[in-house]
Amino acid sequence: MAAMDSQVEELYRRVVARNPGEAEFHQAVREVFESLTPVLRKNPQYTDAGILTRLCEPERQIIFRVPWVDDHGVVQINRGFRVEFNSALGPFKGGLRFHPSVYLGVVKFLGFEQIFKNALTGLPIGGGKGGSDFDPKGRSDGEVMRFCQSFMTELYRHLGEHTDVPAGDIGVGGREIGYLFGQYKRITNRYESGVLTGKGLSWGGSQVRTEATGYGVAFFVAEMLAAAGDSLEGKTAIVSGSGNVAIHAIEKIQQLGGRVIACSDSSGHVIDDAGIDVELLKEIKNSRRGRVADYVAERHASARLITDGTIWQIPTDIAVPCATQNELDELDAKALVAGGCTVVAEGANMPCTPDAVRTFAASGVRFAPGKAANAGGVATSALEMQQNASRDSWDFDYTENRLAEIMRSIHETCLATAEEYGTPGDYVVGANIAGFTHVADAMLSLGVI
Ligand code: NDP
Repeated sequence: MAAMDSQVEELYRRVVARNPGEAEFHQAVREVFESLTPVLRKNPQYTDAGILTRLCEPERQIIFRVPWVDDHGVVQINRGFRVEFNSALGPFKGGLRFHPSVYLGVVKFLGFEQIFKNALTGLPIGGGKGGSDFDPKGRSDGEVMRFCQSFMTELYRHLGEHTDVPAGDIGVGGREIGYLFGQYKRITNRYESGVLTGKGLSWGGSQVRTEATGYGVAFFVAEMLAAAGDSLEGKTAIVSGSGNVAIHAIEKIQQLGGRVIACSDSSGHVIDDAGIDVELLKEIKNSRRGRVADYVAERHASARLITDGTIWQIPTDIAVPCATQNELDELDAKALVAGGCTVVAEGANMPCTPDAVRTFAASGVRFAPGKAANAGGVATSALEMQQNASRDSWDFDYTENRLAEIMRSIHETCLATAEEYGTPGDYVVGANIAGFTHVADAMLSLGVI
């Protein structure tokens, strides 16, 4: 990672002072700023127009009360958020996260990342993110529905297919998107399909959207290997998490010839030397809403559950963190390097700490940041919006080919940009500069707004 020059360092200090206590947001801003020195030197017009300062200040931030009644008749209060960060390239676009750890700093880090990720896809989407500290785990379907209805009863006034288009993230999958869309439709009296993405296939959803983030990460890993004359064939991989992104990353890595030997959830990790049985994992996680321990119980021959230590201590060729932010630290990175890992791609948003990323760089590990490697999800959301706008629906193979093409193009853009700015092979610099210049040029054209 490069150092920031003094002007950018001062700007960063102001961002920290202006947004106290939002550690994840500070981390995300710093990571982008550290890449930008060469592009700002070459293009003083960005600094003159205050682009960086404007990028760090969301266009709009909404915080609201979400009251609902649980199955015991007790009133529950959660907090809802939507941070509409930047709409220079298109309507605000980014998921909703339901998890007890959600607060403004998490939503802002995710929204900030989303600006550059969405710009990198080359599709007409701005950046935003939202969510709530509501924990869907252990809640009945009825409770989740009442929560989603209350959440949307406030949020709907800020949404629209040309304004702000949420999707899923941690804790928000097809079930939640259904309840949210139902309430939006009821309140507005409009069947506005393009207002949410990740919808069910029978009511406006797109083929491949469910799979897109995980499949996209696997395609990106395949591109990273191909750029070095290699392939996934015969390689081992570790994928953390066992949610939407993890499951589909595992599935596609294995379809492309790799063997995923471990995955996890917040209760521990599973090692399965024979390769994760993805159909069994889907059944347990998606249908039964179970834990990875249930997977081990049903596959006792080759799998074991580990509840201490981290998943990153297992020797592997490839690591794909797909759970949550800062789940992989410097010690984990050193363990991966010692275990022979040469490629790391972030399926989650910011899962690797800055020290972990530095360790990878110092050890020659090829490292792809989430804003490039996991952009397939939002890219396919934009394809869902396209289909909704034209009242069309594409088949699975066509949509998956579009996704693969987009991931190939993001990979190429990252490498070409890194090369142009004198840091060949540095995907972090490539992704940050390419995403930044795309959105910054649009902001210049639109004037000071
Ligand atoms: P899910 O809710 O489907 O799955 C999250 C997984 O991560 C679960 O297995 C969960 O385990 C685990 N996890 C979450 N928090 C922790 C934690 N603190 N410690 C250990 N494990 C944890 O979410 P997604 O798969 O949708 O999202 C995963 C990541 O990918 C997030 O960073 C998200 O922002 C990012 N992402 C998602 C996209 C999408 O399209 N869904 C698009 C781009 C990025 P448990 O069930 O035990 O909590």
